[in-house]
Amino acid sequence: MSIPAQVTPAVSSVKICAKCGEEKPLSDFSKDRKNKDGMDRLCKCCHSEKNKAFREKNRETILAKKAAYRLANKAKLADKCKEYYARSKVVRENYLLRNKDRLRELQAAYREKNKDKVKERRITYEAANLEKKSVRERNRRARKRNAEGSHTAADIQQLLVLQKNKCASCRKPISSSYHVDHVMPLALGGGNGKDNLQLLCPHCNLSKHAQHPVEFMQSRGMLL
Ligand SMILES: [Zn+2]
Ligand SMILES: [Zn+2]
Repeated sequence: MSIPAQVTPAVSSVKICAKCGEEKPLSDFSKDRKNKDGMDRLCKCCHSEKNKAFREKNRETILAKKAAYRLANKAKLADKCKEYYARSKVVRENYLLRNKDRLRELQAAYREKNKDKVKERRITYEAANLEKKSVRERNRRARKRNAEGSHTAADIQQLLVLQKNKCASCRKPISSSYHVDHVMPLALGGGNGKDNLQLLCPHCNLSKHAQHPVEFMQSRGMLL
C-alpha cells in the first residue's frame, strides 16, 4: 500500500510590480487585503513614489484641509496637547523615581570618566551665568535694604553699550571687567533700578565705595 505524496501548491516568493514591472521579493510589497494574493499591486518603492506625487499635486488642498481641521478643533486639540504633556510628565517622573539609584550611578560614572569635559562645561556655564548671578545677588541685597527697583542682565548689557564699553568715571575701557555701581549708593537711599546704575572700572569702583556721588566726583576733580 502506498501513500500518495502530498502535493502542496508552490507559493511564489516573488511578485511583479504593476508599475515598474520588476520582479521583486514579496518582502518588497506591503500587505493589501483587497487583492487576491493579499499583497499590494505596487512595490513599496513605487507605492511611496505614487503617494508623494499625490501629496505634491494636492498640496494646497491638503494644507487647506489640515488648517480647517485645526481651526474647527482648536479647543479639542489644545486639550489633547495639555493632556499629552501632563501624561508624559508623569511618565518621566515615574521613570526617574524608579531608576533613581541606577541613574545616580550612571551619572557618577560619567563624571568620573569625563572629568575634564565636565569641568570645562561647568566653567563655560558659570562664565555665561556670572552676570545673571551677580544681578540676582544685587537684587537680593537691594531687597534686603528695602531699596526700590530691580534690574536684569539685559539692563547691564544695555548700559555697557550706552557707556561705549568705557568706565563712567575715568573712561578707561571696561568690556573685560567692570563693576556695577549704584550712582546713589543703596546705603544712602539710592534705588536698585537701571536708572541708578553705572559701570565703573574696578579701580574707580573701589575708590568710590559708599561715598556720596557728588563727593566722589569732586574727589576726582569734577563737579567742583
Ligand atoms: Zn515598482
Ligand atoms: Zn575708572
